[in-house]
Amino acid sequence: MDKIKMMNPVVEMDGDEMTRILWGMIKEHLLAPFIELNTEYYDLGLEHRNETDDQVTVDSANAVKRHKVAVKCATITPNAARMTEYNLKEMWKSPNGTIRAILDGTVFRAPIVVKGIEPCVKNWKKPITIARHAYGDVYKNSEMKIPGAGKAELVFTDRDGKESRELIHEFDGSGIIQGMHNVNQSIESFARSCFNYALDTKQDLWFATKDTISKKYDHTFKDIFQEIYDAEYEEKFKEAQIVYFYTLIDDAVARVMKSEGGYIWACKNYDGDVMSDMVSSAFGSLAMMTSVLVSPEGYYEYEAAHGTVQRHYYKHLKGEETSTNSVATIFAWTGALRKRGELDGNKELMEFADRLEKATIDTIEEGKMTKDLALITINPNPVVLNSEDFIKAVAERL
Ligand code: NAP
Ligand code: MG
Repeated sequence: MDKIKMMNPVVEMDGDEMTRILWGMIKEHLLAPFIELNTEYYDLGLEHRNETDDQVTVDSANAVKRHKVAVKCATITPNAARMTEYNLKEMWKSPNGTIRAILDGTVFRAPIVVKGIEPCVKNWKKPITIARHAYGDVYKNSEMKIPGAGKAELVFTDRDGKESRELIHEFDGSGIIQGMHNVNQSIESFARSCFNYALDTKQDLWFATKDTISKKYDHTFKDIFQEIYDAEYEEKFKEAQIVYFYTLIDDAVARVMKSEGGYIWACKNYDGDVMSDMVSSAFGSLAMMTSVLVSPEGYYEYEAAHGTVQRHYYKHLKGEETSTNSVATIFAWTGALRKRGELDGNKELMEFADRLEKATIDTIEEGKMTKDLALITINPNPVVLNSEDFIKAVAERL
């Protein structure tokens, strides 16, 4: 059999722990036998990040600007415990944060829907994709504890030294205050990424904030989305027969619960953080959640939504058997390969991505799955496979 050729490379970002093990198995059993894999490889494993003073992460993000498509394995974000475990020179920043800062994108998270793994919300029939704005608000805030009576104000000083002030509160006693910000340019990129992704995936786009209460802050988000939609996207949405819909965040939450899914829900940073955990757990499992970073320039970085599955890795190191779910990592690869195929006009590669996804879903629907899914499936007799045997079962079907 002739292997499928790739005209241009995908940026490959390898990672850590159990997901690094799965990464190798996926390449060996599901990709290499069928494709002449063309990747530009970057090792984002924590040891190599430490050796390169994290330069490898920056290099890999810049490579995405050249090649437009990347696939990333989960990586460790170091904390105090990792400092000693890996003997680190520094507590390196989260690679995802570094990559996002360089590519300036929006993260879209969507569940992989499989028969037998039913959402807790009975009427959800299609995936709900959460688009989370990844800059500012409470994640870049300044806070103060107010010790006692006094006046708190917002002060803005322009470059010429002119001040404008807004009273926050006249305190009679102790309390708390918080200052947060966003920048129009980031909100504009967020809006464009959402509109482009809706067109790419032919799904409606919902956006919601609390603009009735936050008449300047949240209202600016609403206005920027509407202005960009009217100026650049209205016609394209009509052609694609999809809808852009704005509502209040509380109304959106109520409608989401009653919907059948099949749309993108754009959320401000905090709303997206909270709602993506709700949506993913209601759909079944974090291990069945895909994630893609889409930049306003049209760069795409695909990954699984879960982490490096540390607990399973320690079992693996002790020589014990693991049953770690590789589905979201497989779908990270298929997402990247399909996008590569689309950009290069490589139909064979796109069809391969479709077939690999179908083989993965069919394997689970036929009853073969990893332990995490066996625990929640409505299939009465699931066959529980270990990490490698699940991937081999998918390869068999493929
Ligand atoms: P995690 O890797 O997502 O795993 C948390 C738990 O969720 C696991 O212990 C496991 O539960 C279950 N789980 C997650 N993915 C699974 C899969 N594919 N198959 C089966 N079960 C799965 O989160 P963590 O253990 O809190 O974090 C580990 C490391 O990942 C940390 O160093 C963190 O910095 C990093 N992280 C990276 C990313 C990223 O690169 N995007 C995202 C999040 C976290 P059971 O143990 O009950 O089986
Ligand atoms: Mg969260």
